[in-house]
Amino acid sequence: ISAKVQGIKDAKSEEKDSNGIYYSEICRMFEQVEQTTKRLEITDITAKYFFKMMSLGSDHLTKCVYLCVNQVAPEYKGIELGVGESLLLKAIASATGKNMTAVKEEVEKCGDLGLVAKNFRTNQRTLFPMPKLTINKVFDTFYEISTSTGASSQQKKVQKITSLLVSGSDIEAKFIIRSLEGKLRIGFAEKTVLTALAQASAFYHNAESKSNPDPEKMNKYSEILKHVYTQLPNYNILVEALFTHGVEKLPLVCKLVPGIPVKPMLAFPTKSVSEVLNRFKEIEFTCEYKYDGERIQIHKCEDGKVVSFSRNSENSTEKFYDILEKFEKFTNEGVSTFVIDAEVVAWDTQSQNILPFQVLSTRKRKDTKESEITVQVCLFVFDILYLNGESMLQKSLNDRRKILWESFKVSPGEFQFAEYKNLKEVDDIQIFLDQSIADNCEGLMVKVLNGEESSYEPSKRSRNWLKVLILVACIYLFIVKKDYLDGVGDSLDLVVIGGYTGKGKRTGVYGGFLLAVYDPDQEEYQAICKIGTGFSEANLKEFKEMFEKTKIEIPKSYYSFGEAEKPDVWFEPTQVSVERYI
Ligand code: ATP
Repeated sequence: ISAKVQGIKDAKSEEKDSNGIYYSEICRMFEQVEQTTKRLEITDITAKYFFKMMSLGSDHLTKCVYLCVNQVAPEYKGIELGVGESLLLKAIASATGKNMTAVKEEVEKCGDLGLVAKNFRTNQRTLFPMPKLTINKVFDTFYEISTSTGASSQQKKVQKITSLLVSGSDIEAKFIIRSLEGKLRIGFAEKTVLTALAQASAFYHNAESKSNPDPEKMNKYSEILKHVYTQLPNYNILVEALFTHGVEKLPLVCKLVPGIPVKPMLAFPTKSVSEVLNRFKEIEFTCEYKYDGERIQIHKCEDGKVVSFSRNSENSTEKFYDILEKFEKFTNEGVSTFVIDAEVVAWDTQSQNILPFQVLSTRKRKDTKESEITVQVCLFVFDILYLNGESMLQKSLNDRRKILWESFKVSPGEFQFAEYKNLKEVDDIQIFLDQSIADNCEGLMVKVLNGEESSYEPSKRSRNWLKVLILVACIYLFIVKKDYLDGVGDSLDLVVIGGYTGKGKRTGVYGGFLLAVYDPDQEEYQAICKIGTGFSEANLKEFKEMFEKTKIEIPKSYYSFGEAEKPDVWFEPTQVSVERYI
């Protein structure tokens, strides 16, 4: 209680007005975070800040959390805080009285729009004192900017950004611009924010824990919150529940809700059937076809609406409304609400066959009349996460599968269950794998069938689900599904052919690299993906020196690449990077 009271005093003593706490507070916290790379320190700074904000109510804290993760609404709502560079440049010029050439020159020099805004504000004299920015003002303006559409929206966005910049100090200008760019660039991971939030809540409900935090308990709280977040990724609901119930009770009060996407469980890549058998020596497992389409999570909500979400939790209802409208037909009596996990594939209605992923990718995103739909789809359902008010996540896959099959009925070419076999022998699995390819699938998903390890683990790339792709499928994936590369499970020898100039913390080194694969038939290096994560500062320095020697003015005639991939600097094809999970 004394800590709670102290927190309230602390917060009251901060500068704020009737519109809430000043934005400069959170910027100060961002700056502290920016100055360290130590995860524990970052968590500690953020937890203390959140704790202070807790004294001001859940609404305020929710906005602070959103500002930390650079969002203005739950991710699944698709309201994105990302403004194009040209609008930001205009706003900086207009707020600071500089011309565009000067702004662009400064960007070239420091490689960070946020710093440009900061530098120009530092040197700017204002005639009249402006009202100070509050968290409410900044958050609400960000929300308006993210949701504004229509003919004059660009102009309005520039005006709103300009007015924020004019009211903000130099530091505030830096973070306003970075937030609007979509990246704070201070080394904040969402997991750290969740850990800090769990700690702040523990401090709030148990004063002692603040003065003498028990690392084991704090770890446990962090795991609880992270886990609950994968099932209910909505900060508005979670922060409110943290206030009322505290972190320990969270799993009891915050459960999966139809209408809010669960972060999907993912599979671990393997190279061969024997690798699968090594992993699952004594464990009962099942093999399912791995269909080649798009992940789709289908929810029937309390209000009777059927909605769907993609692998990245984007709402895909409009894209697949034609199949979702038919759910009455696929659902057995007694089923009121549900969440099921499936792969949607393109379907040839004449030959009654699965069509390749490329065909599905030509399907329009929305606004198509049913008569205009050229690509028909079929659902292959493989899991159930929720049924009639009850979460199925903790049940075994065997039980979930039984419940799934009892709750829905097959409609050929529209709604089918994933083909499966519970096999044990290498040869049988190999035959099933070949059969999956013959049936136009990518390979197999091998999943633990019974016991605790077979529960549904939201958001996890789990070793309890293994995927086995055959080589043909791998190559096909690289060619057709470049955007999906993060899950491909093979080692690849890729050649570094270009580099992107680093920004922010990576100024002076390369921020990312363009990798290519050698095609012996065409005798060319084909750009295949960009990489920019997973490097330590030491790596980046080392790469800078290493690639300095191989810089070339123009790309080799045998480099093949798209306009969007064009790097800032080209390299000789001398460095091979062995990438496992790109
Ligand atoms: P990929 O590009 O291979 O789909 P990914 O990273 O999206 O990779 P992984 O977890 O690696 O996802 O592979 C599982 C994906 O395979 C799922 O996201 C889903 O879209 C698809 N899939 C097809 N059939 C199944 C199945 N029977 N069980 C689970 N996932 C399946």
